[in-house]
Amino acid sequence: MTDQRSLADVLQQRPSFNPESLSVAEAAQIIDQLVTPVGAIESLALRDTLGRIAAVDVLSTLDVPAHDNSAMDGFSVRSADLRPGASTTLRVVGAALAGRPFLGSPQPGEAVRVMTGALMPFGHDTVIVQEVVQVQGEQITVPPGQLAGQNRRLRGEDLSRGSVAIPSGRQIGPAELGLLASLGIAELKIRRRLRVAFFSTGDELRSIGEPLAEGQIYDSNRYTLFGMLRRLGVEGLDLGVVPDDPAALERTVAAAAASADVVVSSAGVSVGEADFTRSVMGRLGEVGFWKIAMRPGRPLAFGKIGQALYFGLPGNPVAVMITFLFLVRPALIKLAGGTANGLTTIQVRAAQPIRKRPGRTEYQRGAWVPSPTGEMTVQVMANQGSGVLSSMAQADCIVVLAHERPSIDAGEFVDCVPMGSLF
Ligand code: AMP
Ligand code: MG
Repeated sequence: MTDQRSLADVLQQRPSFNPESLSVAEAAQIIDQLVTPVGAIESLALRDTLGRIAAVDVLSTLDVPAHDNSAMDGFSVRSADLRPGASTTLRVVGAALAGRPFLGSPQPGEAVRVMTGALMPFGHDTVIVQEVVQVQGEQITVPPGQLAGQNRRLRGEDLSRGSVAIPSGRQIGPAELGLLASLGIAELKIRRRLRVAFFSTGDELRSIGEPLAEGQIYDSNRYTLFGMLRRLGVEGLDLGVVPDDPAALERTVAAAAASADVVVSSAGVSVGEADFTRSVMGRLGEVGFWKIAMRPGRPLAFGKIGQALYFGLPGNPVAVMITFLFLVRPALIKLAGGTANGLTTIQVRAAQPIRKRPGRTEYQRGAWVPSPTGEMTVQVMANQGSGVLSSMAQADCIVVLAHERPSIDAGEFVDCVPMGSLF
């Protein structure tokens, strides 16, 4: 793994750094400065690269399509043969299908029956769709109003030889698989998969399958983390539940940091608990305890243990998801060698007023609601409690209310990140 910078180096360059009140933007910058993409590269068969990140620019070795071809079923013609403003009668001298070209050389006044994907016959530049053509035996009549070059796909219009088909850092999705296949590429160089170890802490937590005693709850954070990591295409290592016990925590963190690129834990970083967590982490590596001016998600431990990045997320289930999505996820994407985080932010009018305190970034669960005129607006959901996962499951988007922003009036634009762009 590439050597990463130390947290102390990065913080030294920030004289105004205040661990008790850090803006989301500042925290994200510090995290970003600590991340250097992993260097290791592997070659995989095309289908196995789905979800992985291209490690090199893939250049097109071909023109795609390789030849001019018909975009429609119809008749190919030479546009110079068509009479402007009047219909034209042409003689059909043959046919061309996808994969079965017409090998002759049509003469002036001659048309060829062509199917979609068929190579354009020699000298022909235009295709007339079959629906507008009158056919009488060997003859066709083409109505006026055709445009030269219509219904023809040009050689190289998708990709031209030597151009970048897939840039390094691009995550391979279904479209990329198809694009690579269209170039005849069977194998691709990709970055190695990240390993992310994760665990939950808390004496009250039980795992699925265990009975619940009074005051105990099922651990849900390991499931949301599993899902978010899986969707990112990283390898998750589930280390289970660790009790609120310094020795157990130290053992788990040490083992996790030795076997993973990134360690993510939840809970045990709130005020009462931070002291013992801090001392454990401090013994193992460099860890900062930050209070981030965000809601949900205020307490966060962040640091490096050996070469591994460490994220100690808060305990509340929604806070775990929000801090993961907006602080951990971008770091994982960069570490994995990715160049785009895929987040789409759209501006939508608020359906109702939204209460917001300036001086912190708020992430509220939102639902799309059409206004009486049919325009899409966003309504923040009623229960924004940081433990309420059901509204996270129902939400259409996360409404991101910027640090300085005060309360919002109905009708004002707010930034919305659709759920589909987060997972
Ligand atoms: P803590 O940060 O440990 O004070 O936890 C804050 C809240 O989150 C408490 O109500 C915990 O019970 C809850 N919590 C912590 N970890 C989990 C978990 N893995 N799954 C569900 N709830 C949790
Ligand atoms: Mg706890």
